[in-house]
Amino acid sequence: KFNQKVEVYGNDEISNLGRAFNLMTTKLEQVDKQRREFVANVSHELRTPLSSIKVLSESLIHQDDTPKEIYKEFLRDIDSEVDRLNKIIDNLLYLVDLEKENIHLDYQLTYVNYLIQKVISSLKPLADKKNIEISFVEKEKIQVMLDKFKVQQSLINVIGNAIKYTPENGKIHIEIYSEQNNFVIKVKDNGIGIPEDELPFIFDRFYRVDKARARKTGGTGLGLSITQQLIALQQGEIKVESEVNKGTTFYILLPLKAAV
Ligand code: ADP
Repeated sequence: KFNQKVEVYGNDEISNLGRAFNLMTTKLEQVDKQRREFVANVSHELRTPLSSIKVLSESLIHQDDTPKEIYKEFLRDIDSEVDRLNKIIDNLLYLVDLEKENIHLDYQLTYVNYLIQKVISSLKPLADKKNIEISFVEKEKIQVMLDKFKVQQSLINVIGNAIKYTPENGKIHIEIYSEQNNFVIKVKDNGIGIPEDELPFIFDRFYRVDKARARKTGGTGLGLSITQQLIALQQGEIKVESEVNKGTTFYILLPLKAAV
């Protein structure tokens, strides 16, 4: 319990110490609340696939003479729930790792245009499946010091989401340009969009606008939290604009001169 506060009136040294103490107490309370919420969320997220596995395996155990196809189908469902559990745990461990102090950043001279092209090529098969067209407008050629892997991971998350949350025959438009001290990677889709009142939460851990749909698409609700961390670690910022049924635009801003 961190709810002990001291009463402070004056402006002397002791009162100022008291105020600092109260501030610290409030902060500790917040951290404690966040930690409890986090544990509750994690438990819930892990329990959902576990419950499915339990239901599927129990029904297999109790059914005699199950046709082989049904048997196989249930096992496939169990298999994909196990994959989901693994994905959640991998993502969680990665996120916790990113929040460590003194995390090592591996800055390398990076040709960002080429990095984007590479990510687009790797995601093209996914886009092709839904006949989604990806265009890339290179307004500028950007070459900077970056943690290449972390930026690549961020792009995979954001462009991957654009594909996931855009219906068939949609369009994704990517641009790179510079703006003041930053360069900007813009990823615009014409997909399902995000309601305005949910926008402030999409970078929160486990937050999903439509839980059922996100689960079907294999989402864990951790991708954008990880992306925000990856970008913030490099003194960058990620912003979003969206309109329901019109589409969503993400902006990844990163410094042109990295603080290596
Ligand atoms: P998920 O693994 O569920 O995709 P993310 O953290 O990557 O989790 O995204 C959080 C939520 O934000 C998603 O569940 C989805 O509701 C919403 N979202 C993210 N990107 C888009 C997009 N391009 N279009 C519409 N909704 C999106």
